Amino acid sequence: MQKIEHIGIAVKKLSDSIPLFEALLHRSCYKVETVESEAVKTAFFGLGNNKLELLESTDPSGIIARYIERFGEGLHHIAFSVDDIEAEMQRLSAAGFHLLQEKPVKGADNKLVCFLHPKSSNGVLIELCMERVDKKVDG
Ligand code: ZN
Repeated sequence: MQKIEHIGIAVKKLSDSIPLFEALLHRSCYKVETVESEAVKTAFFGLGNNKLELLESTDPSGIIARYIERFGEGLHHIAFSVDDIEAEMQRLSAAGFHLLQEKPVKGADNKLVCFLHPKSSNGVLIELCMERVDKKVDG
């Protein structure tokens, strides 16, 4: 693990939360991106070496919608950047952590990602992410 890459925050509406975080952080959102496979629309803010990722569900039964139903809006996950995501997944799996994906999947902001179930990490949903180096294949 290298550093905290970003912190994910579940929100009901990006249209409300982007201006709120722009006012809070005093900077503009630099990217809004939909991740179809996760049924989320994301908005990113850069902050020093870190980022904030706001997540809005694009589907009423999607993971973020269900999360907000249960817990309300707020902190959703912490993402760590890693050099070699497959090696890190193997290491964590061998150490007893419960991975939610068997292989890395495409995440937002040009990353390959994998999530760890919060049950195996003190209630914190963890995302591993690695910069994608492949050429644009299918977005
Ligand atoms: Zn994330």
